[in-house]
Amino acid sequence: MVSRVIPVDPFDLVIFGGTGDLARRKILPGLFRRFCAGQMPPEAQIIGAARSELDDEGYRDFVRDAIHEFAGPLSEDDAQIDEFLERVGYVAIDAKGEGGWEELKSRVRDDLVHAFYFSVAPALFGDIAERLHLHGLAGDESRIVVEKPFGKDLDSAKALNATLAKHFHEQQIYRIDHYLGKETVQNLMAVRFGNVLFEPLWNAQYVDHIQITVAETVGVGGRGSYYDASGAMRDMVQNHLMQLLCLIAMEPPAKFDPDAVRDEKLKVIRALEPVEPHHIVRGQYDKSANSQGYRQDVENPRSFTESFLALKLHISNWRWAGTPFYLRTGKKLKARTSEIVVVFKDAPHSIFGADAGRHRNVLAIRLQPNEGMTLDVTIKEPGPGGMRLIDVPLDMTFADALGPEAEQATEAYERLIMDVIRGNQTLFMRGDEVEAAWAWTDPIIAGWTARSDVPKPYDQGGSGPEDSMMLMHRDGRRWRELKG
Ligand code: NAD
Repeated sequence: MVSRVIPVDPFDLVIFGGTGDLARRKILPGLFRRFCAGQMPPEAQIIGAARSELDDEGYRDFVRDAIHEFAGPLSEDDAQIDEFLERVGYVAIDAKGEGGWEELKSRVRDDLVHAFYFSVAPALFGDIAERLHLHGLAGDESRIVVEKPFGKDLDSAKALNATLAKHFHEQQIYRIDHYLGKETVQNLMAVRFGNVLFEPLWNAQYVDHIQITVAETVGVGGRGSYYDASGAMRDMVQNHLMQLLCLIAMEPPAKFDPDAVRDEKLKVIRALEPVEPHHIVRGQYDKSANSQGYRQDVENPRSFTESFLALKLHISNWRWAGTPFYLRTGKKLKARTSEIVVVFKDAPHSIFGADAGRHRNVLAIRLQPNEGMTLDVTIKEPGPGGMRLIDVPLDMTFADALGPEAEQATEAYERLIMDVIRGNQTLFMRGDEVEAAWAWTDPIIAGWTARSDVPKPYDQGGSGPEDSMMLMHRDGRRWRELKG
């Protein structure tokens, strides 16, 4: 199955922080893959901008290495890499200094779309925005792309929004949450609003509960001090899990248009009820026989930051009144998996009697690994044993169903960058959305801080703290097993 690739308009893309980890691992290899896919017009230009004293050739070497390391099978095509590198240049710039800006101005072409990717620490956003303005690079044709973390609480998010708003309209600001660029996340909208099958059942009358899980097998790695100041709530829930929750719970927008979609997402966040303390489970991975625990990893023996978080939420609106949403995320768990599970209610009346047991339809949407969906359907157990019922999954792994093209699926970053060039903000967070998410998050964090809540230790390679299981068991429910 061959997918259609529609080239974008010619553009200039400037990557501030062009020598950083994110540029090396995601942005540059992603751009190369889009180039190989034929999506990048010949006139496109990519300019790295960072403090290192490199020239164009030096940066091209850096980009070539990044492609070799991170662009997958395409990285073996040296001819394509050479052709791609002809579009790549570099300007040495200090975000806080004056050098380099006029050079950058001379390279950016006025008549084309130009996007500035702020792949730097948020503390530099204001400096860069200010200098883009001073050097005449903040006109209506300019777009800026900003990375997470977008603030650490409501006040800092508001301050960041205000800083950017000094020189850019909301329509020019693209706040990236790379989860929204994942194929399956967009498929959530296609599944919900493109099929007649699900939407009539998508409400409290038919849905028992919904689970959203983002589990990682890795620990905090080299990001110890950043992570310890942040924790699972700020690092994962306030942004990624919240975005998934919005897409799964929102009302159908009138059309697939950036503001129509984001208006509906915002309404979900605003309808979230405050979370009861006993509906919050925080955990920290313990040390194991051959691996350090969380506190050793972050080098903070008295850390109370959570590396695991489970929450039970309620959305107070007509659609969802009475249907709980359970969210969990954590590090050093049994499997690396991101999944949304919609558990439907029992059939209203069983004609098969009590012996047939209890059966439920379950729709599981896997974001990773093996992006796809399964729908558990109840059928008769084959054989002569009478009317016994079993649940079997209708399984659609996209790579199987759609062929090898799906395995080569566009990665989140590259898709999102192409959307920036197209001027499509649907998959980016609007300023009010981010602020609403912090307004909901802040009191939860303030609550556990005031209660001096201590995260529960949990075993590495397991499913998180026992209390997380209890959160479900108390309600007669259970988490879907973590499977990689
Ligand atoms: P990094 O530390 O690896 O790179 C930072 C880049 O900024 C470097 O290119 C550096 O030269 C440049 N820089 C630093 N100070 C500068 C200055 N004064 N003027 C000009 N350039 C300067 O960081 P990173 O991991 O690439 O992250 C960049 C941003 O992306 C951060 O906001 C981070 O939170 C966010 N982010 C990163 C990842 C990731 O996987 N690395 C994931 C999500 C979000």
